[in-house]
Parts: sequence; structure tokens; C-alpha cells
Amino acid sequence: MAQIKIDEDACIGCSICVNKCPDAYDLNDDQKAIVKNHNAPCAQIGADDCPVGAIEITGEIVPSEAPAPVAAPAPVVAQPTGDYKGVMVFAEQRGGEIKKVTIELLGRGRGLADDLGVELSAALMGHNVEGLAKELIARGADKVYLIQDAKLENYNTGGYATAMSKLINTEKPEIVLYGATHIGRDLAPRIARELHAGLTADCTELTIDLEQRLLLQTRPAFGGNIMATIMCPNHRPQMSTVRPGIMKEMDADPAKTGQVINFDAGLTDADITTRIIEIIKEKKSVAGLEDAKFIVSGGRGVGGADGFKTIQALADVLGAEVGGSRVAVEKGWISKDQQVGQTGKSVRPALYIACGISGSIQHRAGMQNADFIVAINKDPNAQIFTVADIGIVGDLFDVLPKLINELKAANIGA
Ligand code: FAD
Ligand code: SF4
Repeated sequence: MAQIKIDEDACIGCSICVNKCPDAYDLNDDQKAIVKNHNAPCAQIGADDCPVGAIEITGEIVPSEAPAPVAAPAPVVAQPTGDYKGVMVFAEQRGGEIKKVTIELLGRGRGLADDLGVELSAALMGHNVEGLAKELIARGADKVYLIQDAKLENYNTGGYATAMSKLINTEKPEIVLYGATHIGRDLAPRIARELHAGLTADCTELTIDLEQRLLLQTRPAFGGNIMATIMCPNHRPQMSTVRPGIMKEMDADPAKTGQVINFDAGLTDADITTRIIEIIKEKKSVAGLEDAKFIVSGGRGVGGADGFKTIQALADVLGAEVGGSRVAVEKGWISKDQQVGQTGKSVRPALYIACGISGSIQHRAGMQNADFIVAINKDPNAQIFTVADIGIVGDLFDVLPKLINELKAANIGA
């Protein structure tokens, strides 16, 4: 019998072994390979293809039983789903401020609702938050369900999950969207369990199969190497969490009108299972990259923390935030909350300048939705140029000082 050992320190989480032999390997939450089956017939292929030699197999692989023939997947046929209708967005607010991801979800939700010919609603919960309803309507909602209760002043899982489940059971939307924030990721699975509904996490694209009236929920899978499209044909509502910075917001239309409907969730003390004693805000080393209008990012090509001073100099001229690739984070040149990409932040600035970044699929996943991308790289074949609006082939340490001087001379920037 074989025994597989994985050197966790060496593993770079590339998921090649998982793709070669999903029966034997998987990635854990830390993006490190783990063993599922020591005697999967394809285990050796995964080990042989590991680029860092992190997999060691001792003994002989003895498959426990002949693999059962794989049946062709049944075609997806949507089941009758009763009177569920409409698209609903969970309107996340903190301290009386609507989170940006809510506005982004309303933008996409509006498109989905229009495709289906139904209404878009927002579920707004909290205490004394009625003033926020206007903004949700201006950003696309036809209706705002307002659930106000002192018990909902600060987010708590029990109270919010109970209130949201009651609202969904009463109003029966066919689609419900949440931001993939700490709150959305905590709340949505509990509601899915409560309602026996499907939930697809971390979607990057949402469209409608009009023929079957199904939500097509696309998200990266296998460490970002493939995109999977997931459907929930048999249960309602269809629910997704969406990462901040992915969907495009709609411009606010202050003239737009809509309905505000008070909903009494009838919460009792028994629904509140946790008590918040104090809220201590984490000090962030940078302002939110997700909200930045301009971002200058650096990768391995920047060469070190000193090299990032040049990146910072350009950012200062533009009034931009500094971001970077995972390599720049792993090397300790920038902090983790500055990482852009699949396992970092998804950003959508007006301008993204990528310096010395090759443009791996995992990096592009976090920045390719920027309105305008400038890439500076020595290698004319770098992948980053495939998503760039302007590509500059050159050494960033030649290009950036010139760019900074030109911007200063033209008096452009902050
Ligand atoms: P490299 O790929 O080494 O590229 C450096 C580039 O700099 C090269 O193109 C080179 O031509 C150029 N260069 C060198 N010197 C100069 C110079 N002086 N001037 C101009 N150009 C120069 N990566 C992320 O960024 N974000 C993520 O969220 C992320 N998540 C991941 C998740 C998983 C599961 C995995 C497996 C990987 C993830 N990665 C992520 C890592 C990703 O695969 C790449 O390894 C990483 O993005 C490469 O970073 P880089 O472009 O800085 O480095
Ligand atoms: Fe880790 Fe597997 Fe990639 Fe090797 S092939 S580095 S074990 S994820």
C-alpha cells in the first residue's frame, strides 16, 4: 500500500497535482495540497508533475477497488419552484453606511431583474437606518424592505439570519445576493441551511439562462485554474455571495422613486445568541484598495522594498493607493492587505498601473475589471499585456521616473 507525504512548506498551492489527480489530492483553505486517497491510481502522475517536488510517495499504489463506471451527468432540468419571483440584495451596512459591495450588487441585480422581467429589492436591516433606503433606490432598487430593531443595531448572526430568513420566506425572491464580506460569508450559509436553498460562494459572474429561468453562477475552482458555472435548479431562492470589486455599480439616479416597506421580523431575545460588548476597529495599513480610484501595483520585478519607494513615488503624484502581486506580499515588500488577486483583493479602479507584474491568471482575476490598465514590463510576451489598455515594454526603473517627471511637469495628479 502506498503512503503519500506532502511537504507543506515547499507546496506553493499551484494545484497542478489536484488537476492531474483529483482523486488523490485537494487544496485546503491555506491553498496547500492535502491527501484524499493514498492509493488513487493517478497519484503518481500528480507527484511527478509537482513543480517543487513537494510530494513523496512510498510503497506501491494499490487501488482499493476498480473504479466504478462514471455515469454521464443527468441534464439539468429546472424543477417547478412555486411562486418565487424577483431579485433581492442583502443591503449590508455598517455604522449607518452602505457598503460599496451593496451598490455593486444592486448594479448587477438590476441587470438580472431586467433580464427576468421582475423587481429588484433590497433588504436593509439595522437600527435607525431608514435614511439609507433612498440611496438603495437611487442605485437601482425598486423596493426596500426595512427591518429595524435595536437588536439589529450591530451585526449578529442569530438576529440577522432569523430576520432575513423570515423576509425571504414571506416575500419569496427567486434570487438573493450577498457580498462575500465577513458578514455575507457568515450570514448566507446560515440562511441557506435554514431555507434548504443552494448557495454559491465567491461568484465572479452572474447571468441568467432565460429558457430555464436559472441563475448561472460562475466562480473560480481548482485554485483558479478553471471557472465553474453552478446552477441550483431544484430549490429557491438561488443564492450567491459575490466578492467586492467584481460587479459594476450603476450611477446613482436621485430622481428614481421606489417603495419602502417596513417588515416586522418579530425578533425575540432568544434570537440573539451573541452579545457584543465592544467594537474595536482594526487599524489598516492602507486605505481600502477596493475603494481606490487609482492603484499603482508592483510585483517581483520591483526587486525589493526599496524598489517599492519608486512605486510609492508614482502613487503619491497620482493620489493613488499602492498594491501588489502575491510575490511582493510573500517577500514582505508590502502588506497582505495590499495583495491584488484571487486570494487578495478584487479591485475596480479607474486606473491600474501594473509594474513588474507578469499577469498570472490569479493576479488578473483581481484587477482585470479596472477601467483602464497600464502595464510596464521588460518582457514583451508578459501575460499582463493581454489585459492592458496601454503596454510599455521596458525597465520600470527607467519608465517610472520619466512618467513621474512628465506628470509633475504637466501638473497632473493629486
Ligand atoms: P513574476 O511572475 O515572477 O513576474 C515578474 C515580472 O516582472 C516578469 O514578467 C518580468 O518580466 C517583470 N520584470 C522583472 N524585472 C522588471 C523590471 N525591472 N521592469 C519591468 N518588468 C520587470 N498572485 C497574485 O498576484 N495575487 C493573488 O491573489 C494570487 N493568488 C494565488 C492563488 C493560488 C491558488 C496560486 C496557486 C497562486 C496565486 N498567486 C497570486 C500567484 C501567481 O500564480 C503568481 O505566482 C504571481 O502573481 C506572480 O507575481 P509577479 O507577477 O509579481 O511575479
Ligand atoms: Fe503543492 Fe500540488 Fe502544486 Fe506540488 S503540485 S506545489 S503539492 S499544489
